[in-house]
Amino acid sequence: MMERDELIYALKTVDFDNYYKQADEIRRENVGDVIHIRAILEYSNYCKRECSYCGLNRLNRHLKRYRLSDEEIYDSVREAVRVGYKTIVLQGGEDNYFNAEHLAEIVKEIKRYNISVTVSGGEFDYDGYKLLRDNGADRYLLKHETCDAQLYAELHPDSALDRRIQCLKNIKMLGFETGSGFMVGLPNQTVESIADDILLLKELECDMAGIGTFIPHPDTLLNNADTGSVELTKRAVALTRICIPHINLPATTSLSVLDKEQSRDIFNCGANVIMRKITPTDKRKLYEIYPTNAKTTNIREERTELETMINSLGRIPL
Ligand code: SAH
Repeated sequence: MMERDELIYALKTVDFDNYYKQADEIRRENVGDVIHIRAILEYSNYCKRECSYCGLNRLNRHLKRYRLSDEEIYDSVREAVRVGYKTIVLQGGEDNYFNAEHLAEIVKEIKRYNISVTVSGGEFDYDGYKLLRDNGADRYLLKHETCDAQLYAELHPDSALDRRIQCLKNIKMLGFETGSGFMVGLPNQTVESIADDILLLKELECDMAGIGTFIPHPDTLLNNADTGSVELTKRAVALTRICIPHINLPATTSLSVLDKEQSRDIFNCGANVIMRKITPTDKRKLYEIYPTNAKTTNIREERTELETMINSLGRIPL
């Protein structure tokens, strides 16, 4: 285990190579060579929140909003299962139409395919999370985004860090595999607070953590901010692997948007999970949390492409 001081030193150091090597070894010893492929289905881009970094925030009037019908959701899931996906991640903005009751119904239906279901639908009260859990949801993904309480409050005018952390504690208490995570490169974020982000993942006993690079979205308040550092993101991933050996760490999409090379390299720095969109093609470009450039084909081809990439790294796609 690394202490706070050492984490800060490592994040800032010139030569990080030994940490990368260590992270890669710890990854191999603790979670092996498998790279888990998760299918992510973005069911709605409506959102009642005002997160100032996110393109879906309710103040963005340029965005055409959509909701998938239950049938569209089941069709996409069926196709994903057919081509080999074993986990579906249901993600959306905070949309009252997809309240806990509605999502629980969808989860229950999807569980009939005998696959794992992750929900990533933002903040619910304890009873909401319990309903999802009781209906078979296996995992919940809710990033704490930043553990700097003041920065958190600035970025989320309608929320507070305490509330986010309480949600994560409830999720953990209910027996979900609990996913948190944070962004790297937010305006005014310090390296010290990134060390604390890693320590918070440990304290919350997170089973997974999505660590992504901040990318400014043109239709948000942060449109003029600088893009976060890919190198610092990789360092945060590697140090998280070293501090929490068994954790699941995705190569976050924001990293692959910024740099394809680096996004493959992240698998040598501690990552062992990747997510791929299975959202119907015409809706994908509307789920724009941050600007992307992803070309789309279809669910089967994209799955095959990923498996080929993973095999070429000498790893095992699952
Ligand atoms: N409404 C859900 C899902 C949010 S979107 C929730 O609140 O959990 C998923 C993740 O995308 C967020 O948790 C955030 O970490 C990331 N994200 C949002 N905007 C971003 C941006 N501009 N750059 C990089 N990552 C961003």
